[in-house]
Amino acid sequence: MIPAPFDYEVAESVEHAVELLGDREDTKLLAGGHSLIPLLRLRFARPAVLVDLGRLDGLRYVRDAGDRLAIGALTRHNDLQHDSLLQEHCPLVSHTAGLIGDPQVRHRGTIGGSVAHGDPASDLPSVLVALDAELVVHGPDGERTVPAGDFFRGVFETALGPQDVLTEIRVPKLGPAGWSYVKFMRRAQDWATVGVATVVRRSNGTIDHAAIALTNMGPTPVRARAAEGALKTEDDVAAAAASVAAESDPPSDTSGSAEYRRHLATVLARRALEEAIGG
Ligand code: FAD
Repeated sequence: MIPAPFDYEVAESVEHAVELLGDREDTKLLAGGHSLIPLLRLRFARPAVLVDLGRLDGLRYVRDAGDRLAIGALTRHNDLQHDSLLQEHCPLVSHTAGLIGDPQVRHRGTIGGSVAHGDPASDLPSVLVALDAELVVHGPDGERTVPAGDFFRGVFETALGPQDVLTEIRVPKLGPAGWSYVKFMRRAQDWATVGVATVVRRSNGTIDHAAIALTNMGPTPVRARAAEGALKTEDDVAAAAASVAAESDPPSDTSGSAEYRRHLATVLARRALEEAIGG
């Protein structure tokens, strides 16, 4: 279908984007367009104005920020996948970016768009929740930082207000921690039926820190706290995986029932934890 008519504005800076968002009602930001354009074409979204962020090249970067890496919101999935800083210090992000869609999607879609869209089937949001990432937001009152765990509020709902622009994502350097993102999909290059992100730190067989977050197991990324608590030693993987779906509220849809997803999450969590602990 053809989108409903809209006005088109080009943002020359983040401040300009905030200003343009404030000027008119029912305005939407456009980044890679790989979530928004399909919605426009189906007329599920009918914004009066599109504000294009595409010329803000200053928001495409991965930078060393001490114990963290800072990622500009307009950095494309393909650039995340091949970035040497991410590959060295936070390979969970580059690995997961390489699992998103197909090459065309990865060459246009951005991390900021993926996060701001708030789709529970997207891969990077649960990874950012498992990493305890921070999201930097610019709005009419200036800049604020939102923990990833507080950012996702519901299906397609986030902490972003109508005049907010997501500008940066900060992820920790993982050092020797084990990590994994395991995704099950019905067809190659598809969205996750379920995904599991893990970060595990251990010493002498004891687990010092475990973070587990689930994709498409609820309206937002689900932090599996019960499973994290059950993982005290390397021998607890099966028991932890068995409780991974405890806090979830998975949907039933054409990709699988809620019950199927709970089972799948258990299987994938076991694989993900084994990978993280083995790695
Ligand atoms: P856009 O479509 O431009 O924007 C999406 C939303 O975010 C809009 O509401 C927009 O207003 C808002 N927005 C964008 N940037 C900002 C910003 N900086 N600040 C505030 N709001 C902003 N994703 C996966 O995770 N896994 C997959 O397997 C996968 N498969 C896909 C397959 C296909 C065929 C397609 C078309 C998409 C797929 N995607 C998948 C989605 C893809 O990752 C998108 O690129 C991503 O979800 C949105 O990023 P974008 O830059 O295209 O955002």
